[in-house]
Amino acid sequence: MEIIQKYNLPKQLFLQFPWLNESSKVLFDDLNISEEKMGSISLIEMVQFLFKEYDELLERIKQFFRNIIQSKEEFSTPTGDVIHLAMYPVLQIIISVSGNRILGNALTNTYAKHCQLELSKYNAKKDFPNKILQNIFSNLGISCTVDEHIFKNGIKYPFQMDFPSYLRVSTKIRNDSWKLINRYFESGKIYLIRHDVVLLLREFVRQKTLPDYRQINKELSSQMEKIPEITDILDEISKMMATHKKRFESSIFSEGETIGSELFPPCIKAILYRVIHGENLSHNERLAIAFFYLNTNHSVEETVDIFRTSPDFDEKIARYQTEFAAGSGKGKKYSMYNCVKLKSYHICRDDDPNFGDKLCRDGAKKRNGEIVPIQNPAKDFIFWKKVELNRLHRSQIVDQLESSDESEITKKKEEDSK
Ligand code: SF4
Repeated sequence: MEIIQKYNLPKQLFLQFPWLNESSKVLFDDLNISEEKMGSISLIEMVQFLFKEYDELLERIKQFFRNIIQSKEEFSTPTGDVIHLAMYPVLQIIISVSGNRILGNALTNTYAKHCQLELSKYNAKKDFPNKILQNIFSNLGISCTVDEHIFKNGIKYPFQMDFPSYLRVSTKIRNDSWKLINRYFESGKIYLIRHDVVLLLREFVRQKTLPDYRQINKELSSQMEKIPEITDILDEISKMMATHKKRFESSIFSEGETIGSELFPPCIKAILYRVIHGENLSHNERLAIAFFYLNTNHSVEETVDIFRTSPDFDEKIARYQTEFAAGSGKGKKYSMYNCVKLKSYHICRDDDPNFGDKLCRDGAKKRNGEIVPIQNPAKDFIFWKKVELNRLHRSQIVDQLESSDESEITKKKEEDSK
């Protein structure tokens, strides 16, 4: 087995996991391009070169998009050869050119799931010792040591990750079990079992493979679109997306833009934003959005529709859960969670830079000056938002009346002075 010395990792892993640092060197080695020459090749030349060298590349990339557009976040082409490695930078570029966040999130989910699947296969075959996982983390700049003889409270913890590294890899995980308080933490280290580190690696891969939409500027993008293979793929993506309209119609929203009705509270806007950008929601977020919709005069159909852009959308399950929440049949309709509960689930976004709202932060102000805190997103937030908008509307009418009065007076003065 050929080992890439610098990271002490088998070459096979670089072919399988193109998100590893230095994978591009393995690719350039295969293409017989020296390290000195690597720096002088432009992105455009590289993409043209890859399509020329690897005949199968075009079809594999198309297959990748066919899969993710149909919500199949898996590779159905080989994943341990150099073409798999060559696919990765080209996929990143195509998604950046398309600017489509749903495709970007589907790509990260696919690579993250693939990483977990492959590592569990190795585990089952006992192919890679824990030391290899340590070396993968080291390749990614994450400090995680292995000591097979560490036991805490009778449990074997072969992995020890330092605190900053743990924060870096676990920060996006919403599940409470990853909070420090629920972990064995001692002398700046978090003690972990193999299953934990595989899940942490999966989440880190999700972060690492997210396309950088800013790397492709307008000029580079139009040059890319002149490469026949790229045009061909982009055309096919547009056609495929047109046949899955429901999932993609919301991708026209740009990053940072708030969406949803003007009466929706921050917590709900933030969940909607994530779901339309193809991110999977936690169980509590799903319930929160479903309860909110069902308690604000939306139909079961409209509620099921929200989840269509989720990568793990399953019509049957989503419909069953929504009907259950709506109390169809014998059940009772569930009320919306109150703010206390949403805060305890870390769903409240009262202070969020994109979605936060003064009403949630400071409470609503009654006419007599009394401050009333917002306690329920589907009841008092909407009520007070309406009051706020009505007040704004009325003050605008008064402003307009005053300014039209002023212009009338000026007009009259002008006429009088003639
Ligand atoms: S205060 Fe309530 S309504 Fe406002 S963002 Fe937080 S949970 Fe949502």
